[in-house]
Amino acid sequence: MRMTVLASGSKGNSTVISSSSTRILVDAGLSCREILKRMVLAKEDPATLDAILITHEHIDHVSGLSVLARRLRIPVFFTEPTHRAWIRMLTPRTTMTYSKWLEHIQMEKEARAAAAAENSGYDLAAEAASIAHVAAEAEALDSNLSLTRSIYAGADPDADDGELCDGTAGPAEALKKVDRTLLPAVEYFHSGTDFSIGDIAISPFTIPHDAADPCGFVFGAEGIRMALATDLGYMPPNVKSALKRVDVLLLESNHDLEMLRDGPYPWSVKQRVLSRVGHLSNDATAEFLEKDYDGGATYIVLGHLSEANNAPELARIAAEQALSSRPMLLGNRVLLASQASPLESIAL
Ligand SMILES: [Zn+2]
Ligand SMILES: [Zn+2]
Repeated sequence: MRMTVLASGSKGNSTVISSSSTRILVDAGLSCREILKRMVLAKEDPATLDAILITHEHIDHVSGLSVLARRLRIPVFFTEPTHRAWIRMLTPRTTMTYSKWLEHIQMEKEARAAAAAENSGYDLAAEAASIAHVAAEAEALDSNLSLTRSIYAGADPDADDGELCDGTAGPAEALKKVDRTLLPAVEYFHSGTDFSIGDIAISPFTIPHDAADPCGFVFGAEGIRMALATDLGYMPPNVKSALKRVDVLLLESNHDLEMLRDGPYPWSVKQRVLSRVGHLSNDATAEFLEKDYDGGATYIVLGHLSEANNAPELARIAAEQALSSRPMLLGNRVLLASQASPLESIAL
């Protein structure tokens, strides 16, 4: 069994989990192009992927999802609330069409004219002002429309290089034609209920995080178990027990508490990260390793490290210190997943 972390961090998360016959991409938080590039770098063949599995709908876990799934024509596994939240996120706010708006303006104009006619003298100046007002509104609407359009285009992580990953359509074309919520196939799973994709058994467990229905996973095949648990506000009992008897553990070590407190984030964001639905600090991860971890993993991969509020060495030292307090765990190897490049595949 193999785990290849393509990217981990608040700018994008994606990991390949493979057995000898099945390959699953967990999260697609980079652009389609970047995921394909990193898979090739990590010697993983994108054409052999069987499915994409999503932990939760935050953008750092789904930004390349729809383009990649359509490109590879593979099913996407979500929980139903996550799928719905993802669709809502991608669906732009409904705005008035131009013809509806013209109708609306015409009615307003008639109402104003009727009101004016009721007054003793028909006010030419008021009518002129009203026409000017309509013209100004039309102009504002037009610039709003193009603004909306450019924001929407800019928000498409795959529109950045002028083609839709497979080179068939540019972003303008794509915006007109492609419904971004369209996927080749969608499969639902339920947190707490085991299922499988090919010969990989999957146990999804609920994690405390501010998303619709966020999950961590334990993957099992060929007698090996690999777990993935990032984006956790704290370590509740169900997560602690899900992470027992695993051979590879990808675990969040998001921030150093002092760096976060003194760092650049606005107060509200700091509060969110620190909250029980935010992210695990190096200290919280170390506490888990010291007190609750059963010590069975050959590899512990620290992931979702914050670039602004953590330093890889701080995360590593905290975890290694925690493990060294239990001499029997010195055989556990600590690896650091990175945002910038794939981690060498871990094969057991
Ligand atoms: Zn998240
Ligand atoms: Zn995340």
